[in-house]
Amino acid sequence: MIGRLVGQSEPPPSYSELLKLIEGGTIKELELSPRQREVQVQFKDGRSIRVPVFANDSLLLRTAEQSRVPLTVRDDRQDDATAGLLVNVLLVVLLLGGLTLLLRRSSQVASKAMGFGRSQPRLQPEGSVSVRFEDVAGINEAKAELQEVVSFLRQPERFTALGAKIPRGVLLVGPPGTGKTLLAKAIAGEAGVPFFSMAASEFVELFVGVGASRVRDLFKRAKEKAPCIIFIDEVDAVGRQRGAGIGGGNDEREQTLNQLLTEMDGFEQNSGVILIAATNRPDVLDVALTRPGRFDRQIQVDLPDRRGREAILAVHARSRPLDPSVSLSTWAARTPGFSGADLANLLNEGAILTARRHRSSIDDQALSDALERITMGLAVAPLQDSAKKRLIAYHEIGHALLSCLVPHADKLDKVTLLPRSGGVGGFARTMPDEEILDSGLISKAYLEARLVVVMGGRAAELVVFGPSEITQGASGDLQMATRISREMVTRYGFSPLGQVALEGDGHEVFLGRDLLHTRPSYAESTGRQIDLQVRQLSQHALDQALVLLRPRRALMDELVDRLIEQETLGGDEFRVIVDRFEATGALPAESGPPAAVPVPGHA
Ligand code: ADP
Repeated sequence: MIGRLVGQSEPPPSYSELLKLIEGGTIKELELSPRQREVQVQFKDGRSIRVPVFANDSLLLRTAEQSRVPLTVRDDRQDDATAGLLVNVLLVVLLLGGLTLLLRRSSQVASKAMGFGRSQPRLQPEGSVSVRFEDVAGINEAKAELQEVVSFLRQPERFTALGAKIPRGVLLVGPPGTGKTLLAKAIAGEAGVPFFSMAASEFVELFVGVGASRVRDLFKRAKEKAPCIIFIDEVDAVGRQRGAGIGGGNDEREQTLNQLLTEMDGFEQNSGVILIAATNRPDVLDVALTRPGRFDRQIQVDLPDRRGREAILAVHARSRPLDPSVSLSTWAARTPGFSGADLANLLNEGAILTARRHRSSIDDQALSDALERITMGLAVAPLQDSAKKRLIAYHEIGHALLSCLVPHADKLDKVTLLPRSGGVGGFARTMPDEEILDSGLISKAYLEARLVVVMGGRAAELVVFGPSEITQGASGDLQMATRISREMVTRYGFSPLGQVALEGDGHEVFLGRDLLHTRPSYAESTGRQIDLQVRQLSQHALDQALVLLRPRRALMDELVDRLIEQETLGGDEFRVIVDRFEATGALPAESGPPAAVPVPGHA
């Protein structure tokens, strides 16, 4: 039975059984570990087990002695010493590791500090730029001008043989997203030369002198790789007029600009390095930068017109499966004012929505949703039919109806009650007239019509809910109306204050120069008159909106019911309802489209 007790897989014997085993003579030897309070039992048949014992176990000692079983006491102190040694070694290793880490960190910082003056341009080596002129669409004039630069980079001898000097710098001027970077890349791609690019803001550091040395370094590296292109984006970040800082002009930015000028003078004519810079504020650039010999070519890169937009859409549609029903020319017509980047984004969003809907090709619906997402924000859950929804509906119908009634107003594209993120409960979208947009000429009649449409929301609330129930929902409209009226009065001479420009183009204050020199260029009394005129223009627009909406209450009710039911009404559908109502002659005689009611005091 005892033998069974001490079997390998069985529980160790109890203390009393152990004593019996010792007496029984089956045990070869015992080893006692006082600190662990256990004894290692070695049987004669080779097995061995551990059995817990008491701390100062004299009975065990005596029994072993009497039964003549050899008993050794294990020296635990040695184990302790080894463990202690191990801990100490570990500590030292940890300490050394920490120290090395610290040292390495600080040496990295030091080496970074030493490398401050080195520029980190993004370099696309020779032949690796995949953009070509065919990838840039809608800006043909700019492309044609730059063709010359490509020819030079490819065969400089053709030009130098005739003594022709190639421009050192080309300045691309235009709003963001119109393809300036793309164009610069396309030049490098067509000519097969390396392309260095850097944003001007990357030159400017906290420490004086760093920008200048970065410029030096960039040019040095470029010269090694000539012929090549250096592209500097947003060059106005360093190229602004000098002497504009507060307290003298010797700031970091100016030193950087000086270095840029020096480098441009320094590289040989026809050295093969061509600097292309982009900006949308050529007016703030230092004259020294734009004089011949530096950026002597200025190329305007404007927002694309309708044909341009269609071409850009076609470029970006090449890599995306479009449904055959999608007409790019219709989409070009629906996106006036969009830049190339906006159009690329439209197709990209369309592709994302299509993927989310598990379709295989991008259709009109996906593009429509993408357009709304881009212009109005993300769609959120529709409102329940409630008093609030009705109020928003009347507000939007006010805008929409007036855009149909007022001559010269932009055409209604759609009105919807589907809310968008950012607190937009619904919106009436109009489409700016392509001709006006392309010509850039805006008439007084057009702006007055816009004012009436903008005030339509507030007017509808007044007509339907009365003066004490109007809401703050019109605050955005009021801001817009004030901005339009103010520009009419102070910049375009559309008011009795006369043909004077009372304010500039509203550019932001730029460093010290503008802080010191920007003050109103008119008398205090003129300021008061401006405020009065602005207020009168907005009030007059509101009055006109009220005159038009009041007699059409029944039409508004019908439109609101439809809108609440369908959530969205397209421009054409909307106009059919309005035309039918107008044709029934349900209106009192005096409430036809407004003859231009003169603004009091306005010519
Ligand atoms: P910018 O430098 O003028 O701010 P980018 O060249 O960076 O604009 O344009 C951003 C993106 O928009 C491009 O990568 C390209 O996809 C698209 N894009 C802009 N303009 C055009 C264009 N004219 N043709 C094709 N794509 C364009």
